Amino acid sequence: MNKNLEYIVVGAGIAGLGVAYELQKAGKEVLVLESEEMAGGRMSTQMLKDIPIDIGAQFITSFYKNIWNLSEELNLEPSLFDVGNVAILRHEKLFSLNPKNLRSLCMFGGISPLSKIRLAFVLFYKLVMSSRLNLYDLKKNLALDDKSVYDDLVDIVEKESFTNLLDPMCEALFWYDSKEFSNVLFLAILRKVLFCKFYSFENGIGKLTQKISEKLDIHYQEKVVSIIRKKVGVTVITNKKSYCANRVIVAIPGNEVLNVLDTPTNLESQFFSQIRYSTAAYIFCQAKTKIFSNCNTIWLPEKENEHFSSISKNNHVKNYPSTHFSLAIRDSALRKLTTTNRLHKHIISKMIIESFDFFQDLQIDYIHIWDSALPKFVPGFLRQKYDFLDKTQFDKQIFYCGDYLESPSVEGALTSGIKLAKQLINE
Ligand SMILES: Cc1cc2nc3c(=O)[nH]c(=O)nc-3n(C[C@H](O)[C@H](O)[C@H](O)COP(=O)(O)OP(=O)(O)OC[C@H]3O[C@@H](n4cnc5c(N)ncnc54)[C@H](O)[C@@H]3O)c2cc1C
Repeated sequence: MNKNLEYIVVGAGIAGLGVAYELQKAGKEVLVLESEEMAGGRMSTQMLKDIPIDIGAQFITSFYKNIWNLSEELNLEPSLFDVGNVAILRHEKLFSLNPKNLRSLCMFGGISPLSKIRLAFVLFYKLVMSSRLNLYDLKKNLALDDKSVYDDLVDIVEKESFTNLLDPMCEALFWYDSKEFSNVLFLAILRKVLFCKFYSFENGIGKLTQKISEKLDIHYQEKVVSIIRKKVGVTVITNKKSYCANRVIVAIPGNEVLNVLDTPTNLESQFFSQIRYSTAAYIFCQAKTKIFSNCNTIWLPEKENEHFSSISKNNHVKNYPSTHFSLAIRDSALRKLTTTNRLHKHIISKMIIESFDFFQDLQIDYIHIWDSALPKFVPGFLRQKYDFLDKTQFDKQIFYCGDYLESPSVEGALTSGIKLAKQLINE
């Protein structure tokens, strides 16, 4: 057994790195245990033959606060991420739309004029009525968290607004559709996204997690397999050894927590067993194609393509070759592929070629799969997570942070880590 540490943080994603960094700055002794060989989790960049590729999160936004503060502190300057035009593919035709341009929204031909007018009026009304929503403090609005976006709007907007616009958008950004998406969270996010700009870092979004990780004591390739509460302190067992700490912070996806808790309390069993995540996969490819002449990203309605939800030009990273792009596999399609088929380039390549005739000389470079991609904020989940946080804040041994306890983004994950660090430092 090693000596008793003050804090162990399990998981070096942005939430774990954020809480560890804040605690360390406050003079606490912190060790981070990470199962992979690098830090960052879903906010990581990998090198593919000298080209940086973002394997999870792609951008940060101008309304993120903690991410910007941290970037400044680490002397990293975010650079504009060119979202450009988005297009919807329908019946082999592209209908393009620039979310920042009112004229382009008015001219968008992906849904009928009547549907567009109804949707615009309804969303405008909802946004005005929800002007007090604070994305990072929705506790006062729990009474509104009773419906999904779909259930809230289905009687007032045409179905095609869902199939051809709202669902492709939700799937491209969160990897699950409007039937499961909490109405109140959707409105809180929409209020912010409508007026924001998108950014990344030169050479990829993982620059931030890489820089913060250099300041911390992290043991890599140490997968935590068991966390055991003792009378005094907590024992953490990894694939390599055992550690003892006064306190442990678990910063891994919420749906994986019960796999590592030795004897969860009733509260932990109840809360963590109902947490759901979408799955996601990016396929990084090269091909000759003219499809991107008028847009950077293509969203694919499920009716149009059952396998893929979007195709993107990866040109936000400086000097990225224009022949490189990524395809996103739909959550439902990914779940149907067996574990071996998921990574099989021939099978994926066949799926792409059968789906699209506009790629020539297709070559798959890399496939990255996330079994826990984005936490599903289904209606009612916000109440459960606030209840859980209220009840567990008096625990003296095991604490939690991550995107599922705040909002589904890198800012949400970091905010959750920073809030926890403040609570622990101020005790
Ligand atoms: C494909 C995709 C695209 C996204 N796009 C965006 C975007 O553009 N903008 C945005 O803001 N957000 C985006 N997100 C969401 C964002 O990436 C996440 O919300 C955020 O990064 C989650 O951070 P986290 O620290 O909570 O979890 P994670 O990043 O998952 O970190 C958990 C860490 O714990 C480690 N771990 C897990 N189990 C163990 C164990 N047993 N022992 C030790 N270590 C363990 C993991 O390896 C990982 O490093 C995207 C997510 C995905 C998947």
